[in-house]
Amino acid sequence: MFKLDTADDLLDAFRPKDRKTVDLTTLTYPLVVKDYVAWPHPGGGKVFLVFATPGGAPTGIAFDTNGAGASVPAMCSWCHSSVAGTGVGLLTATVNGNKRAGVHVCTDLSCREKLEEVANRTGASVRPAMEKLVTRIGQFASDALKIDLSGAGR
Ligand SMILES: [Zn+2]
Repeated sequence: MFKLDTADDLLDAFRPKDRKTVDLTTLTYPLVVKDYVAWPHPGGGKVFLVFATPGGAPTGIAFDTNGAGASVPAMCSWCHSSVAGTGVGLLTATVNGNKRAGVHVCTDLSCREKLEEVANRTGASVRPAMEKLVTRIGQFASDALKIDLSGAGR
């Protein structure tokens, strides 16, 4: 869990090249984040994600949503939910320059809600699944996007 007191603190979680694309109009401060926070651009086409791995700095990713996913059931790479319709699709983000990386996940990043639903249904604790989810998000940010999760060099 981490807390972002102001919009500037939230923007600092993003890489400088992403900051101008981030829409902050729908959030209120202080923003207390459990696991992660995700929100869509009100104009569509983008979804934003801020998370922190254990011991890491708050890290933001600005995704392009690339239109609707294929209308067949697909599995989210992060929460492993199988979602019918267009719920799972390709989100892409800039690595550097024109290089982009993508991941097939819940296009609204509602992974947390999906894991909570499963936990409520089965009576299991949601924490182990949630920790794996944040680990997978961190691996994508660090391996695919080359973001330093310690916050260094941002
Ligand atoms: Zn998901």
